[in-house]
Amino acid sequence: MIRATLSEVAAWCGAELQGTPAGAEPDIAGVSIDSRSIGAGQLFVPIAGERFDGHDYIETAASAGAAAALWQRGRALPSETGLPLLLVDDTLAALQRLAASYLASWKPKVVGVTGSNGKTTTKDLIFSALATVYRTAKTEGNFNNHIGLPLTILRADRDTEVLVLEMGMSAFGEISLLSRIARPDIAVITNIGESHLEHLGSRRGIAQAKLEIAEGLKDGGTLIYNGDEPLLREELAALALPPGALGTITFGESEACDLRALDIATDAECATFIASRGVDADAPDGDAGAPGSTDREGEALAARFAVPIPGRHNAVNALAAIAVARRLGVADADIARGLAEAKLTGMRIERVQAKNGALVLNDAYNASPASVRAAIALVAQLRGYRRKWLVLGDMLELGPDEAAYHAAIGRELSRGQADGLLAYGPRSAHTAEAASQAMPSGTVRHFTDKNELADALLTLVEPDDLVLVKASRGMRLEEIVRRLAAGK
Ligand code: ATP
Ligand code: MG
Repeated sequence: MIRATLSEVAAWCGAELQGTPAGAEPDIAGVSIDSRSIGAGQLFVPIAGERFDGHDYIETAASAGAAAALWQRGRALPSETGLPLLLVDDTLAALQRLAASYLASWKPKVVGVTGSNGKTTTKDLIFSALATVYRTAKTEGNFNNHIGLPLTILRADRDTEVLVLEMGMSAFGEISLLSRIARPDIAVITNIGESHLEHLGSRRGIAQAKLEIAEGLKDGGTLIYNGDEPLLREELAALALPPGALGTITFGESEACDLRALDIATDAECATFIASRGVDADAPDGDAGAPGSTDREGEALAARFAVPIPGRHNAVNALAAIAVARRLGVADADIARGLAEAKLTGMRIERVQAKNGALVLNDAYNASPASVRAAIALVAQLRGYRRKWLVLGDMLELGPDEAAYHAAIGRELSRGQADGLLAYGPRSAHTAEAASQAMPSGTVRHFTDKNELADALLTLVEPDDLVLVKASRGMRLEEIVRRLAAGK
């Protein structure tokens, strides 16, 4: 974590220091925005939110042992906290500036990860592949926004060699800001989906917003992006960057990609695949394997990898991690070892056992059309289960065409993929309606009450069955997983 003197901190965030006791300048060890969990010696950064204003909690932070606090200029100064204050115009902007300056004070390699789906998974996989040889730190959980990213940087120790940062967004300009704070050496775009269409208008808009990650890329940095997504290629070309501004590596399944996943296989526990050769450490752009290379000999020599998470899409996420690790000079054997032991953040296709022994795939963390399709494809591929059940709840934040997105998922369902669909939520009524045209009668049901759905599921699911539970976070379908696990 950040360890610095107060005057260093003041210089880094452009603050005016107030009330420092003469000759007793305290050191800062760490930063917190939360007065309830702040630790002794930390810098308190009060942030004004929609409902609460951190400035109101300065006394709590002081009595918890905070060493100093940022303070918005012009506000009445708190009385009797005894805390040295660092006056700034905007505490959030100061937090971001502090993080950027702190990072520049030791210059680790920075890897930024954005994309519509799979950011957290890919970030965790990149970390695992790199941590075999580098002192590596990463975003904890999903701390991927304008507050979480600076806090993640400030939590890293100054001997960190590579810092892997997740960058999330819901509107234009957000990835640009995060990328300019973190100045990545390597930027990764996992894919383009339909999440946040509400704010971004179209898939093309989403591609443009993700490509903002190139704005903060260091000179000569590398952009690693999903080559199966034509919009990313097109929009990158449309940026008309000067030659040599950045190197690019594309990854994916199609022949057009520099780095390809071949021979992907998946069961309920892991995905395996062969990664083509095609990324050299610090190779100049263009040397990263000939695009479209079908060099059979090369592919035969390429390594097989396994990741402890199921699904084709996770093989492709792992491919992005391989591209990053190879670029940073990690040998394939080390990458393979790291990926095989990867620890993933919870509720992303987490395997849970139902009380009666059935396998439940808990993917209730979030959902968008791309991730629902990926999860259904996984269920379709899995063998050895008597019957397969899909429990699908609403996908949120899809904008005015949300009904059509839900209906499209329903239309694509067929008996081959699953034996039954239990849909929950107002938007999922469209999924169910479309699915009932596609699937045999009686195999599709829609519920407006989560408990009724769970009751129905408990009577349907038998010990050798498989159940996928997936919806946007706001639908809280983990309650259904909990009931299956409890068997009541
Ligand atoms: P968030 O925007 O919430 O931070 P995220 O981009 O970090 O999400 P993950 O948490 O890794 O994504 O995964 C979220 C969901 O997307 C999971 O259901 C996962 O199975 C699915 N998913 C992961 N990778 C892909 C992919 N490459 N394509 C489609 N779906 C994916
Ligand atoms: Mg995430």
